Amino acid sequence: MLKYFFRPESVAVVGASTKPGKVGYDILRNLLSFGYKGRVYPINPKAKTILDTPVIPSIADLPEVVDLGVISLPAALTPKALRELGELGVKACVVVTSGFKEVGGEGAQLELELAKVVEETGIRMIGPNCVGIMDTTVGLNASFAADMPNSGSIGFFSQSGAMCLAILDWSLDNAIGFSKFISLGNKTDLSEAEILEMLADDPDTKVIMGYLEAVEDGEQFMKVAREVTRKKPIVLLKSGITAAGARAASSHTGALAGADAAYEAAFKQCGVLRAGSIKELFNLAQSLARQPLPNGPAIGIVTNSGGPGIIAADTAEQNGLHLAALRPESHEELREVLPAIASVYNPVDITGGAPSELYAKALKITADDPSVDSLLVIMSPTSTVDPKRVAEDICAVKIDKPVFSVLMGRHSVEESRIFCMGQGIPSYEFPEDAVQAIKGMLDYKRWLDSKLPEPEFVEGDKEAVAGIIAKLRSQGRLQMSENEARGCFAAYGIPVAGCLAAATSVEAADAAGKLGYPVVMKIDSPAISHKSDVGGVVVGLKNRKQVVEAFHDMTSRVRRIMPNAWLRGVLVQEMVPSGRECILGLNKDPQFGHLLMFGLGGIYVEVLKDVAFRVAPVSRKEATDMVKSIKSFALLQGVRGDMPADVPGLAQALLGLSTLAHDFPEIAEADINPLLVRERGRGVVAVDARISLTQQKGDE
Ligand code: ADP
Ligand code: MG
Repeated sequence: MLKYFFRPESVAVVGASTKPGKVGYDILRNLLSFGYKGRVYPINPKAKTILDTPVIPSIADLPEVVDLGVISLPAALTPKALRELGELGVKACVVVTSGFKEVGGEGAQLELELAKVVEETGIRMIGPNCVGIMDTTVGLNASFAADMPNSGSIGFFSQSGAMCLAILDWSLDNAIGFSKFISLGNKTDLSEAEILEMLADDPDTKVIMGYLEAVEDGEQFMKVAREVTRKKPIVLLKSGITAAGARAASSHTGALAGADAAYEAAFKQCGVLRAGSIKELFNLAQSLARQPLPNGPAIGIVTNSGGPGIIAADTAEQNGLHLAALRPESHEELREVLPAIASVYNPVDITGGAPSELYAKALKITADDPSVDSLLVIMSPTSTVDPKRVAEDICAVKIDKPVFSVLMGRHSVEESRIFCMGQGIPSYEFPEDAVQAIKGMLDYKRWLDSKLPEPEFVEGDKEAVAGIIAKLRSQGRLQMSENEARGCFAAYGIPVAGCLAAATSVEAADAAGKLGYPVVMKIDSPAISHKSDVGGVVVGLKNRKQVVEAFHDMTSRVRRIMPNAWLRGVLVQEMVPSGRECILGLNKDPQFGHLLMFGLGGIYVEVLKDVAFRVAPVSRKEATDMVKSIKSFALLQGVRGDMPADVPGLAQALLGLSTLAHDFPEIAEADINPLLVRERGRGVVAVDARISLTQQKGDE
């Protein structure tokens, strides 16, 4: 496929126009303007020549089966043209025409027709509604962009055509080069996953960079991305973080998952680097394209001013990096060459009055220090430095560690910055940008060094859960009772607190006697999902008398608040004596499937939203990482004399939930809130459980 789209020996432009400014004219002009050596056939029933190129009246008149077709026709005529190309045996086609799914109605219908043609003829299609594609190595520009990017090693794809055009324009002034430039459009046929595969196989592409609004098929995307990131880095900007994709969710997990958690988790789990902004996308991509990966988190900084050095150091700390501790020999060597007022400690500050040549000396010593994993050079445009000279010295540093430059300001340093980039040294305006790029590179390095996560499954009692689900389906229910949900969790090895249902106060007291005091009493009603909100939970009942009283209090209180709710009675539960409250959950994402959630319960989840997500199924390491990645993890490790919590027990419970989700795709949402975790070695206990199912069995 790569060959037909990007290295075609011949291209037909269906809908070539005689009028400058028309898309069908611009595409032809671009094909003829950037050194493409293949044969180009404009197709137009009326014209004789366009841009001195002989015109072919129709697809049927083509003198050969071209490798690539480019269609720029009105939407209504496009499916027919695509079919003609496909039936002729053309393998690849770019449809730039718009007016399809994006306009709805008839357009959506036409797009279905395109999909049908693709399926029936086997032709592969990029678009519709796209800007086109480019390959700088062979000078192919099959697009209506105003220009051609510089050649380089970044393979770029974008779902938005406008982003393509803006990024191309911006890159021209910033010495950023591309191997391939691909506007995806509506992704009717070729999806982002297939584009990733193509770019992974492309010897001219070192770094894959992309802009996405949505992933078509989450599972396929993850499968492909996981393999591709082993070969080359993928940096993606995914928009729509705040999208109102918030579906009505009845569980905590659903409400917290929102639209973005799945993407965040999926990207992390397949080693995709996520950029938070267009700027970050470029910063990271240009660094990955130009420099080797750092071996570790220690940065050596050489600067001529204190402030930016400190900012770099702060940003490093915030991102889990740090400044290298230079060895004493380096301090000595620096002291010999730098003025007395200079700082020889990292950040090495040659001071504002220092002449340019001191940079070269300080750079060499710092770069050679074995404790330094990456070198960051910062220059403020003082009157004593010559930015060009400094830029040359930076570019002359020869080490096998990554080097980054920050030339602060614009007016007097722009030229030098572009010089650096031209020489392969990433160059930034601000220190924070450089440090963030280093962080992204280190993340990638760690991903490469880590083993590919293999999902781990627990031994679950599948029949037990299938039985519970069958009962719900037969009764037309989607929501499990607490007892049913508890049964499902227990079937997958998650310890649950002993619990008995009771319809009368006497039954409740007998149940408490069986379980052993103290006990907890909870209201049992399908209409009540947050029991404590209606006074439906009482803990610490110590004897028969208290249980009987609590039964009467609770049932009459709940009846008063919710007169219409059907009360089954109460649940009497073992009281779990101590433990920190965690929340575990599942939520089904339309693109990626089940998302697994972990957090601390109570205010930590409700106010701070301090939770971690992963796409299920997960490996044991991923489960453990989830627990460790929440901000309040320190509370589980034990503060102020608390014993450390049972983290392996939590990971095991997450694996149970992950397996349950894997075995039962029809689970829509699940919550264990709370799961009480005790000291290390003493395990976890689920005390509150809920599970709901998707509408129909076929829904998953
Ligand atoms: P809901 O979330 O519907 O209000 P829960 O069953 O989660 O009801 O109970 C509310 C709170 O009561 C829990 O968060 C926990 O702090 C406490 N609790 C409930 N059951 C137990 C139990 N068996 N042992 C100890 N504490 C419990
Ligand atoms: Mg609860």
